[in-house]
Amino acid sequence: MNASSIYSGPVFEMARQQFEAVADHLDIPTHERARIVIPKRALAVSCPIHRDDGSVAVFQGYRVQHHLTLGPTKGGTRFAPNVDVGEVAALAVWMSWKCALAGLPYGGAKGGIAVDPRSLSRRELEALSRRYMQEMIPFVGPHTDVMAPDMGTNEQVMAWFMDTYSMYQGQTVSEVVTGKPVESGGTIGRREATGRGVAYLVGRAADTINLQLNGSTAIIQGFGNVGSVAATTLQAAGVNIIGVSDHSAAYFDRRGLDVAALAEHVRKTGALAGYSREALFDASDLLLQECTILIPAAVERVVTEKNASLLKCRILAEGANGPTTPQADAILRDRPDVFVIPDVLCNAGGVIVSYFEWVQGLQQLFWNETEVNDRLNRTLERSFQAVCKRATQQRLSTRDAALSLGVEVVLKAKRMRGLFP
Ligand code: GLU
Repeated sequence: MNASSIYSGPVFEMARQQFEAVADHLDIPTHERARIVIPKRALAVSCPIHRDDGSVAVFQGYRVQHHLTLGPTKGGTRFAPNVDVGEVAALAVWMSWKCALAGLPYGGAKGGIAVDPRSLSRRELEALSRRYMQEMIPFVGPHTDVMAPDMGTNEQVMAWFMDTYSMYQGQTVSEVVTGKPVESGGTIGRREATGRGVAYLVGRAADTINLQLNGSTAIIQGFGNVGSVAATTLQAAGVNIIGVSDHSAAYFDRRGLDVAALAEHVRKTGALAGYSREALFDASDLLLQECTILIPAAVERVVTEKNASLLKCRILAEGANGPTTPQADAILRDRPDVFVIPDVLCNAGGVIVSYFEWVQGLQQLFWNETEVNDRLNRTLERSFQAVCKRATQQRLSTRDAALSLGVEVVLKAKRMRGLFP
């Protein structure tokens, strides 16, 4: 397969290498591979906005739709300084395997704008969000491509996306976006879904390796929507959170950190920096500290060939997308002491509840929190069991098991339908 395309770059290369390994395992003929992994389509847009000082700034935005074989595409929109089309494409491919593994009727998509959202005022952020969605209008829709939050975006941004799309349609189309505020057609439980899902699966992994959650320890990289909710949920289950970090600071204390106080600090100031001087720690060393559960919940490629053999955790729970490189994976495969919950399983709670939000929006029939959480846990349980079963039966790593289950769904659907989608 020719990898030199507009997507080429380290992150897409990672997605491609993972796919190749799984395609070898599944014996997918070479001539079928490009059709399965290369994204169906991509859109690049420039988004000009008026800055508060009167100047005009232009930001580059992207959306990549991986495949249309199972229904609309689905995936988040990321606002981060180094977003590029290769990264967005890799994230779209991972969304496909994630949705397929969870049994959701979607292909994967992802979008992003190369911008540091913290450098914008609220008015500028609104202008940029609306302009991006405006450029996307011919490309998205409730049955074409459904956006959601990702790094650097939140419920407010989703409300602006939904409102902009709706204004152009002349009616409210809440199902074009998920992760909306509950007051604007969102679902109860979406905000917490990814972190809760991570915590649920950590509990299941602990059961599997006969480990008591109560009294165990966790280190969490990333204290955004995923990391902070996972921390809160795990702490409620008796886990001692001994380390956390974000882009601004890292804290470590063997006696345990006060997660509620950290979350309150972030709510007030926007970041972990300034919380405490005492527990300040070197962020790059945090992943290497001894703990029961290690949760990378921030960016890609943080577990690498340099540190994979040095991790001192029993469970590696991938809250982020793509935190582990294929080279690190090769090392982890030979470490039966570490149970890996791969990203496409571990952080699937978000898109699963996004699916619930979409279904509720299409029906205009809303569920309560118990219903949302019960269904979320049931869906994750099914995926978790399927992954463990395949890993054991076919002697695969949990990642290869999860990816092969996802890829297989897409492959079968493509073989049945033909070349069009
Ligand atoms: N951005 C999240 C992810 O990477 C959620 C996507 C969604 O809810 O559609 O899974």
